[in-house]
Amino acid sequence: MGNCFSHGAKTRSSKTTKKPDEQAEGYSANAPSSNAAGCGLPRAAPAKSPAAVGPVLGRPMEDVRQTYTIGKELGRGQFGVTHHCIHRATGQHFACKTIAKRKLVNKEDIEDVRREVQIMHHLTGQANIVELKGAYEDKQSVHLVMELCAGGELFDRIIAKGHYTERAAASLLRTIVQIVHTCHSMGVIHRDLKPENFLLLSGDEDAPLKATDFGLSVFFKQGEVFRDIVGSAYYIAPEVLKRKYGPEVDIWSIGVMLYILLSGVPPFWAESEHGIFNAILRGHVDFSGDPWPNISPGAKDLVRKMLNSDPKQRLTAIQVLNHPWIRDGEAPDTPLDNAVLSRLKQFRAMNKFKKVALRVIAGCLSEEEIQGLKEMFKAMDTDNSGTITTEELRQGLCKQGTKLTDYEVLQLMEAADADGNGTIDYDEFITATMHMNRMDREEHLYTAFQYFDKDNSGYITTEELEQALKEFGMHDGRDIKEILSEVDADNDGRINYDEFVAMMRKGNPEVNPKKRRDMFV
Ligand code: ADP
Repeated sequence: MGNCFSHGAKTRSSKTTKKPDEQAEGYSANAPSSNAAGCGLPRAAPAKSPAAVGPVLGRPMEDVRQTYTIGKELGRGQFGVTHHCIHRATGQHFACKTIAKRKLVNKEDIEDVRREVQIMHHLTGQANIVELKGAYEDKQSVHLVMELCAGGELFDRIIAKGHYTERAAASLLRTIVQIVHTCHSMGVIHRDLKPENFLLLSGDEDAPLKATDFGLSVFFKQGEVFRDIVGSAYYIAPEVLKRKYGPEVDIWSIGVMLYILLSGVPPFWAESEHGIFNAILRGHVDFSGDPWPNISPGAKDLVRKMLNSDPKQRLTAIQVLNHPWIRDGEAPDTPLDNAVLSRLKQFRAMNKFKKVALRVIAGCLSEEEIQGLKEMFKAMDTDNSGTITTEELRQGLCKQGTKLTDYEVLQLMEAADADGNGTIDYDEFITATMHMNRMDREEHLYTAFQYFDKDNSGYITTEELEQALKEFGMHDGRDIKEILSEVDADNDGRINYDEFVAMMRKGNPEVNPKKRRDMFV
């Protein structure tokens, strides 16, 4: 076979209209008490003159060029053109993907962009996923400012190499499967995994890989069935073509990628899209041609098991990671990062001062930033009561592949349940599971500080801290002076803004579930 890989591989198949059964129902549990505009909290600042609300992001429009200088073009896709950009205030380099609104012809297109932003916000901070810094909407376009991946696409690296050694392919696949596991455990199916959507952070040989382009991704709940045909022809799973599928489609797509990494050509190939789909539906994986006779039986076994036409029989992300060819000397059963669990643990270790401040910041996050956590909350709140019980938390974490003892679940429950009523409500869940990178935003920290500093004196006093803890039902009798003294670096008996920021940014420890297990027993 020649190098047919580059032929048309970037073409996504057209998307179909969504069916009602995959639309998330309107969320009716206790709505968050707030939103980005004013955080629902008393604020000293006067209201700004209102800018027109953008139809895509649903919040006031703003000019991305006020914050960033847009530079040269980095690449273009079906919907967007990506440019290099520089943050005017800090000089930091980013990538800005601009989606022209005139290309968003119907409601579904707008919904897709909104969801892309929500999902990128939701996954921001996860390893090997391109970080979204901010989303902007002006009259003509929507702009997504992202971490800059200067090393280009994995696609181009594969083309340059021809194909990978087994060792290199196994190492790359391990990273890719971990990304898929992260997405799935965060309730997201990517639906468009292919080498073009993995970028390299730099031009170095060992540059970190970053997944991007969540333009076709969706939130999913356990057992939910999807029916619209999306993806890119070579990588589409057979059940997508049969319009009945779930998260297993991502494993199929990276199975196709593995075949390509090892051989340089796609497993299901034809001159036309129709022909490719027929080959996928036939499901025959050919190992007879070059270089397959020289490839190890282990590699072929894994490809076969990832390209199993029956999604129920197909390996899961965890099973792929435990396959002997991938493990290859790595410790088996390495506990995988479960984002919700590690965030809950991190939250548990914080003092009440910080927890209340986080609650205030959670109230400042925009709808698009918390949509993903809202979806996770809904998935865990199986009886739709608006609160998560201990049992629902256990089941929810278990579905994500994490089994905990009763005692561990109880500890997490107690940590998140700020008001101690025995269940986690929506606001408590967002507070305890939001990603700590939200703290990078100066305005969030300032809003939280102002919330405590009721008299606007520039200091948080013991009385003000006590009052705030009581407001959230978090005053448990612990000596306020003691909590305050931990933060009061200059020992003047009150907290200034710098001390507050230092507390908020300090020691958000990397949680290693294995090493920290002893914290729970
Ligand atoms: P589309 O959704 O329209 O297909 P993509 O997200 O794939 O757009 O982006 C188009 C191209 O822009 C990519 O193929 C890549 O080359 C480049 N690109 C996208 N994101 C980044 C980034 N974060 N850093 C560097 N280049 C990027």
